[in-house]
Amino acid sequence: MARKSKGVSRRVKKSTTTAKKKRTAHKSARGLKKRSERKRPYSRTAASASSKSGAVAIKSPAQRGSFRPPSAYEVVLHNFDLAASKLDLSEELKQLIKTPDRELRVELPIRMDDGKLQTFIGYRVQHNNARGPNKGGIRYHPEVDLDEVRALASLMTWKTAIADVPFGGAKGGIAVDPGQLSMNELERLTRTFTTNIDCIIGPSEDIPAPDVNTNAQVMSWLMDQYSRRHGHSPAVVTGKPLELGGSEGREEATGRGVAYILREAAKLYDHDMKKLSVALQGFGNVGSHTARILSTEFGAKVVAVSDVKGGVYNPRGIRYDDAVEHEKTSGSIVGLRGAAKISNEELLELKCDVLIPAAMGNQLRGDNADRVKAKLIVEAANGPTTFEADEIFAAKKIPVIPDILSNAGGVTVSYFEWAQNLQQFRWEYKRVVAELEKVMVTSFAAVMATAEKYKVSPRIGAYILAVDRVARATNLRGI
Ligand code: NAD
Repeated sequence: MARKSKGVSRRVKKSTTTAKKKRTAHKSARGLKKRSERKRPYSRTAASASSKSGAVAIKSPAQRGSFRPPSAYEVVLHNFDLAASKLDLSEELKQLIKTPDRELRVELPIRMDDGKLQTFIGYRVQHNNARGPNKGGIRYHPEVDLDEVRALASLMTWKTAIADVPFGGAKGGIAVDPGQLSMNELERLTRTFTTNIDCIIGPSEDIPAPDVNTNAQVMSWLMDQYSRRHGHSPAVVTGKPLELGGSEGREEATGRGVAYILREAAKLYDHDMKKLSVALQGFGNVGSHTARILSTEFGAKVVAVSDVKGGVYNPRGIRYDDAVEHEKTSGSIVGLRGAAKISNEELLELKCDVLIPAAMGNQLRGDNADRVKAKLIVEAANGPTTFEADEIFAAKKIPVIPDILSNAGGVTVSYFEWAQNLQQFRWEYKRVVAELEKVMVTSFAAVMATAEKYKVSPRIGAYILAVDRVARATNLRGI
């Protein structure tokens, strides 16, 4: 029987689901997420189809067929190869740091509220820990598969190296649509996942954090489950609620970091922040905080925002409070009064100064990049741009500030949280924000200096900086 806890309704039976009931279920699982992002029903076959490990051969667009963009992992490997070719590294070392150290696939049998057994598939991939314990978020999404988790784990290695925080890179995920689960089912799933990856996580081994469709509540269950076996261990996970040792400023950290990076990029490319029009895809944790900070603190004009159901556009600017209020009451940003309804595809192609993809990967591809009209792209999402789109943006002279730099604010404040947990000490919000700003500004300068030195794009500059730091650490430690 589902426990009816504060603000948590029982699971809405799929057979009788109405739009209204769905909304109630989503709202009740506050932040987990209010929106249904179901694209296709969970399929165990599909989820495990790509679980064979081994090297990934990158196919040309012709080999792939004209309509299939490269996979997330192929994109990361391509960027790694471009960067590594600029560095004086042995082939052996390149191979060693290119691919993941460890990949775990787990079956998660869950007793659903209706008594039936359902088995989900979860993953934890540890890419590299030469610079410190593995670190990276956990994603709950129907499209999670091994290829995506590998790509995201690898991005974490490069991101932690750029921010120069003492971590390696990892990522985890479960192929599930959390919007279809009750809070009790979600808790059971999270606890089973924690137990099944317990053998490879820990405060000095691998420290998970939130990502798409996971939040502070999920991190609390994870911490609790791990602590049952190992004793009280807040440092095993970051992104926790303040009550359980979370850090001030962690929830907004990724969005705040994106805003600092845009401010630095605006200076570099000669844009006046206060005159910038910004289109933002995604209005979840990262997108909404980015929109808030850009519009209320930095004076930029956010003209478009979207979520999985679609987007809204107002060339005069969208008021952040109105957007949040509308999203809270209706379950989506769509239908916001005074703004025109647009699709997510249209949002990406809007006439605006800055485009910030802050939702899912693979949004800017060879088949749509040519229609992008923004003058600057700042990647808040992980992996939103394929290498084919990168080539088009380079030809069109649209600078792309890469994910591994611009969304590093999250892992930076996760590092602060972890350090506070280990020291059993608490920082004030002001200190967190000041330290975050320092890291973002320093990282931006280091990436741009590297790009300048090697005459490459900011993305390849970021990879060169990161790969060099990881290679040095690996060499110093010895193999
Ligand atoms: P979230 O679940 O809080 O929000 C995701 C948002 O994207 C929601 O508004 C959702 O409706 C929208 N969305 C989902 N699918 C979409 C689609 N197909 N088209 C358009 N919109 C869609 O997730 P988040 O934590 O904000 O993460 C967003 C992105 O930022 C992800 O790529 C994530 O990996 C990356 N990221 C997150 C963090 C973090 O601290 N949470 C840190 C670094 C990077």
